[in-house]
Amino acid sequence: QSKGSGRNTFNFYSDYLQHKSHRELSLQKDLHAAITQSQLFLDYQPVIRLSDGKIIALEALVRWQHPEKGILTPEHFINIAEFNGFVELVDMWVIRHICRDIKTLLSHQFPLRISMNCSALNINNDRFIPEAERILQEENIDRQWFCFELSEAVLYEHRHKAPLFLGKLMQSNIRLIVDDFGSSASSLLWLKTLPICELKLDRCLLLDPSNHSDHEIIAALIAMSHKLGWLVTAKGVELQEQISLLQDEHCDFAQGYAFGKPMRFNEVLMRLRGES
Ligand code: C2E
Ligand code: MG
Ligand code: MG
Repeated sequence: QSKGSGRNTFNFYSDYLQHKSHRELSLQKDLHAAITQSQLFLDYQPVIRLSDGKIIALEALVRWQHPEKGILTPEHFINIAEFNGFVELVDMWVIRHICRDIKTLLSHQFPLRISMNCSALNINNDRFIPEAERILQEENIDRQWFCFELSEAVLYEHRHKAPLFLGKLMQSNIRLIVDDFGSSASSLLWLKTLPICELKLDRCLLLDPSNHSDHEIIAALIAMSHKLGWLVTAKGVELQEQISLLQDEHCDFAQGYAFGKPMRFNEVLMRLRGES
């Protein structure tokens, strides 16, 4: 009996693996086509200044319009891209498209910064910053309109390489936002040694705005960040309660469904026109 069920479990597991690898294999093949046949596109989520509700920045979020599977979000393909060495191509595609959208924004008198999420693998990729820089130069983009995001957990995981990576970014005048701050075990003493100027508070910190101790933690993190000279954006803001809390604690910026879901570039332009 136990032998039998063990065998079933094994069969089940190997079927699962086969199924999974089959699915991933086909996505792998498709992904190369996606990059070359422009099936990738960007959504943008607005970042709002809490003092006046104005949109001051956008976060670019890559999507894949798959010919059969519909729209895929990054969790469905970034890992595969990383595993297959395509992620550099994806990230370069993203930078190139952000540059074009920055130029469109500026030509409409909307001076907004666009940030992009950079794959963890690029910390160890010596080609990454020079390539990014080459694109920014070719597209003639002032560095104040562009920046990268990397999660605190990723920075800490690569802590031996992170100072060098950030140093090179700084030399290239490219700013970095520490994403998902407060969700990992990295130490503040360590973060303080890095050339960063902005943090995004992790969504999980805001999940229960009525909880008194959560409130105290958020207040302390914001106050401390300001003491260290860092600007703070709150992520995943969905409720009016959360907005009030963040305003009370002088959080600088916020993004989340309360202010707008990720949307196509044209929708962003429409919103900006409505605002001005
Ligand atoms: P992230 O940087 O933490 O991005 C925020 C994610 O939260 C986005 O998911 C966004 O759609 C979602 N979100 C925004 N507001 C809310 C809210 O109010 N509530 C909730 N529940 N969720 C909200 P998305 O677009 O699926 O992106 C997931 C992750 O994929 C990103 O996490 C980022 O790490 C990665 N990613 C996105 N674009 C790129 C890219 O161009 N290159 C690379 N390498 N990674 C990317
Ligand atoms: Mg991000
Ligand atoms: Mg995240």
